[in-house]
Amino acid sequence: VRPLVGAVDIGATKTLVTVSPYPIESWPASRPMVRFATPRDPVACVERIGRALDLLAGREMGALVAVGCGTPGPLDRERGIVIHSPNQAWRDIPIGPWLSERVRVPVAIDDDARTGALGEAVLGAGAGADPVVYLTISSGIGSGLVLGGALVAGAHGLAGEVGHLVVDRRGPRCTCGNRGCIEAFASGGGLARRARRAWPRATTVDGRAAPHSAADVFRAARLGDPEARRLADEAAWALALGFASLAAVLDPEVIVVGGSVGLARRSFVRRAAALARHRVMRESAGALRVTRAALGGASVLAGAALLAGYLASEEGVA
Ligand SMILES: [Zn+2]
Repeated sequence: VRPLVGAVDIGATKTLVTVSPYPIESWPASRPMVRFATPRDPVACVERIGRALDLLAGREMGALVAVGCGTPGPLDRERGIVIHSPNQAWRDIPIGPWLSERVRVPVAIDDDARTGALGEAVLGAGAGADPVVYLTISSGIGSGLVLGGALVAGAHGLAGEVGHLVVDRRGPRCTCGNRGCIEAFASGGGLARRARRAWPRATTVDGRAAPHSAADVFRAARLGDPEARRLADEAAWALALGFASLAAVLDPEVIVVGGSVGLARRSFVRRAAALARHRVMRESAGALRVTRAALGGASVLAGAALLAGYLASEEGVA
């Protein structure tokens, strides 16, 4: 029987499950997948995942050697516990051990941003490059730092939180409680909060609908609204200083940008990269490469498959 790894992406609304041949050599654009609405009951969720893995492994006429799982954080990676997932109202759920008991192979879990980072770094836009930094810019900014094909955890599991690099000590409040983080300036949620503060009413002074989302701000900036321009400029600068800081600390071979805002706002990301080149040492300016994520909706699944593959090789399977 062919050795397979299972890959699971437990999202806030939907869960995706797939299997991949082990060792993992590439990530094809399409592969058989089972998807379902993420159950609020974690026991039901584990059972659905188990059934999906049984079905997919049976179809591939293979046997699972390990399973990787990207889940919303925060979590305890070592013990496989989801500490808190607000969408499902999960608290201290041992997803890893439960799933491992259900499928009878070892299970690795990590948070979805870091899992997506691993997928993009090794099998997506960062393939062949090292080190790789991945940033997913959507309502917040998630990130991961991949060195030699492995996620850098840091001494306390806190490494690579690029979204919370402070770029302005007097800047806007961030969801983390600090001020002036990149996330507060340049994420979808950060821009929406800034827009609501700049235009507290539903309409502007000249009677047009006030910008209340990141997309609105970028549109109004393009149309020449000075306040929207200021917010969009500050967002680009915050991201640029993040890129420049990463270049100075890590000299990454590539910075991969994904997420709904990161993928939709090409000119915003390009502009931040161009600004960053003026804020780094001359040698770094030419070397600074920023590129788009390549796996689309599958970056977490690809990363989960890699987590499983690493676990299988640690355990000496196949
Ligand atoms: Zn922050």
